Amino acid sequence: MTSDTVGGAGDDAARTDVDASASIRVEAPAVVDVAHLRALAEAVGCIVWFARPGGCGEWSAWQAFTGQAEGAVSDWGWLDAVHPDDRALAREAWSHALASDEPLSLVIRLRRAAGDYRQMHIVGAPVRGDGSEPKEWVGACLDITEQADIASEQLRELGQERRVRAESQAAEARLGAVLDVLPHAVIIADADGTLITRNKALQALWGEGAPLLVGIEGYRQYKAWWPATGSLVTPEEWGMARALQQREVVVNEELDIETFDGQRKTILNSAAPVYDANGDFIGGVAVNVDITERKRLDAELQRRLSELESVFAAITDALFVYDADGQLVRMNAAARSLLGIDPDYQPATGPDAGSLAARAHRFHLRTGGGAPLAEDQWVLRRILRGEAIAPESAVDVLLSRLDGSDARVAFTGAPIRDGAGAIVGAVTVGRDVTERRRTDDELRAANAELAAATAALTRQATSLETMNRRMDQFLGMANHEMKTPLTSLGANLQLAVRRLRRLARVSGHDAAESATVSREAESVITMIERAQGAARRMTRLVNELLDVSRIQTGRLEVHPEPCDLMTLARSVITEARRGRIGRVIHLEADMEGLPVLADADRLSEVIDNYLTNAVKYSPADTPITMTLAKVSDRLARLSVRDEGQGISPETQARIWNVFERLDSEAQAPRAGGVNLGLGLHICKIIVELHGGQVGVESAVGAGSTFWFTIPLAPVV
Ligand code: ADP
Repeated sequence: MTSDTVGGAGDDAARTDVDASASIRVEAPAVVDVAHLRALAEAVGCIVWFARPGGCGEWSAWQAFTGQAEGAVSDWGWLDAVHPDDRALAREAWSHALASDEPLSLVIRLRRAAGDYRQMHIVGAPVRGDGSEPKEWVGACLDITEQADIASEQLRELGQERRVRAESQAAEARLGAVLDVLPHAVIIADADGTLITRNKALQALWGEGAPLLVGIEGYRQYKAWWPATGSLVTPEEWGMARALQQREVVVNEELDIETFDGQRKTILNSAAPVYDANGDFIGGVAVNVDITERKRLDAELQRRLSELESVFAAITDALFVYDADGQLVRMNAAARSLLGIDPDYQPATGPDAGSLAARAHRFHLRTGGGAPLAEDQWVLRRILRGEAIAPESAVDVLLSRLDGSDARVAFTGAPIRDGAGAIVGAVTVGRDVTERRRTDDELRAANAELAAATAALTRQATSLETMNRRMDQFLGMANHEMKTPLTSLGANLQLAVRRLRRLARVSGHDAAESATVSREAESVITMIERAQGAARRMTRLVNELLDVSRIQTGRLEVHPEPCDLMTLARSVITEARRGRIGRVIHLEADMEGLPVLADADRLSEVIDNYLTNAVKYSPADTPITMTLAKVSDRLARLSVRDEGQGISPETQARIWNVFERLDSEAQAPRAGGVNLGLGLHICKIIVELHGGQVGVESAVGAGSTFWFTIPLAPVV
């Protein structure tokens, strides 16, 4: 083996030879010379060189390696074998070493004789002789191409690994960020079903406690029910489990769930298996969408829609709904019947609809007055331009129904706007006013008539007022002018009777003459008494006439005060007897006194009237019975019963009216004189002014009982 062959680093054969022939001597050689070094270099497989500053040196191994000719190495000629990119480095390092005497160490690429470059570690050190000046340098070039390759490969791999790791970390972070901004709940499982990732939305949906679980069996903790059956969703039924076990893709399965914080919600659950880039199955992903609110809104919307539908159907006005182009999209039953359209007719939409004007033409739209209506004057057109037509400004339109009859319709309406306020359609409401307008016209005519009648009435009222005033004057006058002479007539007649009696007693010279005078006087007295009766009747008639006048002008008044009904009844009877009516009158009562709240004078008139009528309308030989009783803790009742001819039911209803008298044949034989038929009417008014009631119980041929009730006086 020669130095010429040295240089092939990794030359295993050479090293094996050295190893095989080794018999190591332990003492050091006397002088370590070039041969020693060369041997050493051969043993470690490197190029040894010696250099003398300013000159060449021993470079044979170098020359053998690089193929440089002997003379080409000296000075800086060796640099030619260095890779051009490394030459500057090499020159600088060698210059520095020479200048500083410091050991040289650098790695450069060196061209081999074959022309390829090897990575070489070049070391060198100055050899110091006896003097301090360096005389020589010794160095070695070690082929480290393989190690460098390995190292750089390792470095590359390391770099790659780091990159991959960083990339996967970044990908994971990106995924996490993406998942967290997703509005829907996402959960990811590995191939075994172990839940490995969930996003924020999942925790928001299922509650903070939503756990990551190991294996499919754990899914039991997520509580869900199938809405159709209400049965619990088992772990294997979960979309994720099916995606993992059967590689099924589950899309939007509706589930009712109970969250980990106890809320009930409805979700849409989707799940799918996940495969890696090579198509290998690695796990599953599930997505939950919370539709609780959507379902609530859906239900609400449904409710509103059906509400609207009912309103639409139930409304009696005609409703038309149009789109933004004015095409009819809906109408209700009232609209169909208003236009005389078939109840099942649905408005055509889209291209089939035909032009609006063409369709409207069929209805021959006119103004209320009958003039043709231009399209831009249509209510619909006005509304689509943004106008709202309120009921107070409803537009009267005359239109022809499909059956040819005319209808007068009052239209109102308003635009339909979207959320941004843009007009997207219109609603018009038509009310059939055909009848009403006709009635209006009739009403107007009637109003005019009424106005005329009112004017006439006003004129009459004015003259009535005048008459009333005159009536008042008449009453005042009549009261005075009619009653005063009657009173004085009565008083004078009474005086005349008294004087005549006295005269009859004292006159006459003898008994015969006295008897004649007395007879004469008696007959005159009888005549005067008849005149007295007539005067009484006249007084009564005048009183009745005045009372009726008062009633009719609203001037009759009563002034109730506590008094005794029994006393009143007795005094009326006494007065009647004094008038010599010559009748049997019974007074029946099961109490001593009966205190009532009454105007004593007026109530006496009533009792007197009842009694007088009973006397008038019953035979003289029949008795009359007056009965007093308490009919409740509030009312007393007085009735007068006679055994006269009675009154028929039809007549009973009329006798309380003013100027009401029975037919002449009904008049009792004794009912001579003038009867005006005012008495009972006055009685009724007086009793009712007291808060009582009047009545009669009678039948033809069975007598009559006239009665009234009157309030009892409050017990003090
Ligand atoms: P007048 O007696 O002055 O006609 P009234 O008003 O007192 O008026 O009576 C109205 C009518 O009722 C009388 O005309 C008489 O026909 C009828 N009438 C009243 N009281 C009786 C009675 N007790 N029996 C039968 N008819 C009576």
